[in-house]
Amino acid sequence: SGISDGAAGASKRLTVLSGPSGVGKSTVVREIRRRHPEVWLSVSVTTRRPRPGETDGVEYHFVDDARFDRLVEADDLLEWAEFAGNRYGTPRGPVESHLRAGQPVLLEIDLQGARQVRGTMPDALLVFLAPPSWEELVRRLTGRGTEAPEVVRRRLDAARVELAAEKEFDMTLVNTSVREVCDDLLALMVAPSV
Ligand code: 5GP
Repeated sequence: SGISDGAAGASKRLTVLSGPSGVGKSTVVREIRRRHPEVWLSVSVTTRRPRPGETDGVEYHFVDDARFDRLVEADDLLEWAEFAGNRYGTPRGPVESHLRAGQPVLLEIDLQGARQVRGTMPDALLVFLAPPSWEELVRRLTGRGTEAPEVVRRRLDAARVELAAEKEFDMTLVNTSVREVCDDLLALMVAPSV
């Protein structure tokens, strides 16, 4: 198991998966979407451009700056943050309605967003996804091949800071195997309440 810190026990319906850019969060989320439709995955809004293969409404709702501004002003976002030059946020309504319906909800968000959720939803379970090593993280971020060198550099700068935040989380999962991380996450999310 990749669990390196024990905080298991009571199941928490809202789970936040965070960790440095490039650590493999979106791969984990894609696998959960495929294998575990019973988990509801929040679809964030972002001002970033879609990458090849991304579909509006699936990985993200892709919006322009004006639309994002309106969502912030209307308090329609549970949390939001600026990351590497773009803004990302979690639509509040769908998260709250799925939680009310008793469905496990998973947010995949950056560290700043995770801190906001910690402040506003103290019952949330915060899970830090860690790379097997710093070298492996650099390799993944550089090898993605979808971003300009300047963008990769900004993401590496952010990752260095983000790695230090592990101690703020309820637990850490080390991403050596996507399957194991998914299994561990699922066990945390669907465990019966005490
Ligand atoms: P990417 O551009 O690689 O899809 O995402 C960049 C970063 O933004 C990742 O760390 C991702 O977890 C984070 N992110 C995605 N959606 C949200 C969100 O709704 N809120 C926050 N705070 N971060 C997000």
